[in-house]
Amino acid sequence: MSQTLQAIRGMNDILPNEAERWEAFEETVRDWLFAYGYRPIRMPIVEPTPLFARAIGAVTDIVEKEMYSFTDSLNGEQLTLRPEGTASCVRAVLQHNLLYDGPKRLWYMGPMFRHERPQKGRYRQFHQVGVEALGLSGPDIDAEQILMCARLWDDLGLEGIRLEINSLGQPEERAKHRADLIAYLEKHIDRLDEDGKRRLHTNPLRILDTKNPALQEIVEAAPKLIGYLGEASLAHFEGVQRLLKDAGIPYRINPRLVRGLDYYNLTVFEWVTDQLGAQGTVCAGGRYDGLIAQLGGKPAPACGFAMGIERLMALIEAQGELPEPPAPDVYVVHQGEVAERLAFRAAEALRDIGCAVLTHMGGGSFKSQMKRADASGAQLALIVGDDEAQNDEVSVKPLRIEAEQRRVSLERLAEVVSDWLYGADEELNED
Ligand code: ATP
Ligand code: MG
Repeated sequence: MSQTLQAIRGMNDILPNEAERWEAFEETVRDWLFAYGYRPIRMPIVEPTPLFARAIGAVTDIVEKEMYSFTDSLNGEQLTLRPEGTASCVRAVLQHNLLYDGPKRLWYMGPMFRHERPQKGRYRQFHQVGVEALGLSGPDIDAEQILMCARLWDDLGLEGIRLEINSLGQPEERAKHRADLIAYLEKHIDRLDEDGKRRLHTNPLRILDTKNPALQEIVEAAPKLIGYLGEASLAHFEGVQRLLKDAGIPYRINPRLVRGLDYYNLTVFEWVTDQLGAQGTVCAGGRYDGLIAQLGGKPAPACGFAMGIERLMALIEAQGELPEPPAPDVYVVHQGEVAERLAFRAAEALRDIGCAVLTHMGGGSFKSQMKRADASGAQLALIVGDDEAQNDEVSVKPLRIEAEQRRVSLERLAEVVSDWLYGADEELNED
């Protein structure tokens, strides 16, 4: 026997019980985004490779080693499965000139692909909700994006997600800091790990973000970017903090929060939980004023964030009360050819009034069909035998409470079932 095929490592199936929880999550997310004036946008999952190299930065983890890139065998084009959504979103905004009549608030949701080492909370296909505000430069939108996250945690019933913020200043300020940082790290080069040595002259800011405990001491004493910020950058950062304080949202300034992508400036933030082990960041974002121009657009400020849906779902599973899988309202059992045709008509008549109806298929005795009806969790069984069907009648049998089964004409079925399911149910036993 040949072995059954398996999904690619780090790429998960989301089975029905879980998929239903995802749908509930997505519904909450849609309502939440609507409340802040964000509109949906959907981009392709595959993009030209140069988009990401240009947007994310050539010396980032993503572009250096995490992208699923391939050559289109038909035309030789270099393509990449999107590792994140911001680059695609900005590409789409520029391609369709969406900023022509003012700022835009946009969001998207879907799979992203990164070739990382799979582990709990870190997958090769994972999903993000991405939120981008384009064309707005003030600290007000940064703050609104942060505080809207707090509302979502609340809407989802989640607790214990901490906020960390930092400011990366502007490119000139970063350049000064970078020079001092490199000089400092060069003095300690023998104590850097391999990643650190490699990044020293390409992306030294990322060394500050290291998870290697052996480097903590060096990193702790390194020159801090915040000390290099000019007046305007500091004012922006203070503006964000003022609005967070007004909203009563606690936060911690983490001077080592630098984010993995090159395109950020000024505000950066992360929402972190201690309940998911090492993969505790559930949401991350910040300002990226340079990206639009970097991708060839007329310069415009922007800020955004992305949430990892798998990590949030894990948190919901750890903290929340998990809903029962939904049951149909009605399960239809039937036997005989005439009965089958009436069963189909009866089921459609009930769907006309909004019922969820599961029609038995695959035959079997009434007894075995009734077992299925019971196991389905339905409130009511509809029983159709040829005898009933000859008279255009069906029997309605309550499955969850003690009550008599009742025979009704097809015309009256919808009325009787809706009384039963949606109220006035005492009438069912009236005659
Ligand atoms: P990390 O430091 O955990 O690698 P990152 O900085 O690469 O994160 P972003 O690119 O900012 O992450 O993505 C935003 C969010 O998407 C993360 O905070 C996380 O919740 C989620 N995420 C990122 N990579 C993965 C992954 N491989 N698997 C699952 N979720 C992920
Ligand atoms: Mg990463």
